[in-house]
Amino acid sequence: MIRADYHIHTEDSYDSRLKAVDLVTIAKKLSYDIIAITEHLDLLPQELGYFGAPSLFRYLKRLDNLIAANPDLLILKGIEIGDYQCHSDFAYRLVEQFDFDIILGSVHFLKDHTNLAIPIKRKMDKAALTEYYLSNLELVENCKIDVLAHLGVYKRFYSAFPDEKHCVPIIRDIFRTIIDREIALELNYACFRKVYQSVIPEPFYIDLYLQMGGRLFTLASDAHQEDHLHDHYDDLPVDLLKRLKISDRKSRVLEYI
Ligand SMILES: [Zn+2]
Ligand SMILES: [Zn+2]
Repeated sequence: MIRADYHIHTEDSYDSRLKAVDLVTIAKKLSYDIIAITEHLDLLPQELGYFGAPSLFRYLKRLDNLIAANPDLLILKGIEIGDYQCHSDFAYRLVEQFDFDIILGSVHFLKDHTNLAIPIKRKMDKAALTEYYLSNLELVENCKIDVLAHLGVYKRFYSAFPDEKHCVPIIRDIFRTIIDREIALELNYACFRKVYQSVIPEPFYIDLYLQMGGRLFTLASDAHQEDHLHDHYDDLPVDLLKRLKISDRKSRVLEYI
C-alpha cells in the first residue's frame, strides 16, 4: 500500500513549525514512497501585508540541496497557491519561472475576507457556500494547477455534515473540469485533527468523482508541525489506498488502477 503525502508545509511557510530535515527523517522512518513540500504562496493583499511571500528562488535552492542529500526518498518541489483564481495571471507569471514538480491550488477566502481555513466567524449560509464552490470552479477552470487542494475546507471545524445539497451541481462541474484538465483531487485528512471527523472531500464525493471517471488523486496531511505527519493516515479509505499507484505523469500524482 502506498505511503505518500503531497501537502506539507516547512520553514518557508509563515504558519509552519516543521523543519524540512526533520520531515525527511520521519518520512524515511515511516517508509514513505513520496513526499511533496508545498509552501504557501498567498498573494491576497490582506495576507501579503502580514505574512509576506517566500523567495521562491531561495526556497527551491533549499529543496534542491535537500533532494541531493536524500537520494533514497522521492521528494517533490511543490507550492500551494492560495486563491490562485483571484490573481491568476500574476501568480502564473511568478511560478512559471521556476521548475516546480507539483502546484496545488486552494481556495482559502470568501470575497468579504472570511478565512475559511480557521474557525469561521460568519454564518456559512447558502450564498456563502455557493460562492465558495464557484471560486473552486473558477480555480480549476482558469488556473494551471496539478492538484485541487482541500475541497470543502470550510468544514474543518464543523461537528456535523452541513446542508450543501444546492452546491452538488457545482461540485459535479468541478469534478468534470478536473477530470478533463487532468488535475488530481486531493484527499485531505487534516480535518481529523480539527473537529470534522472525515477526509475531505468526503467518501461519497470520492465515489461520485470515481463514477464520473476521475482517476487522479493525492493524499494530504497538510502538516504544519512534526506530529501532524502521518497522523490519521490510517483513517483514509483503505480500499482506495490499495488501488493507488504513483503515476508516471510529470507531476507524479497517484492514479487509481
Ligand atoms: Zn490551504
Ligand atoms: Zn496547506
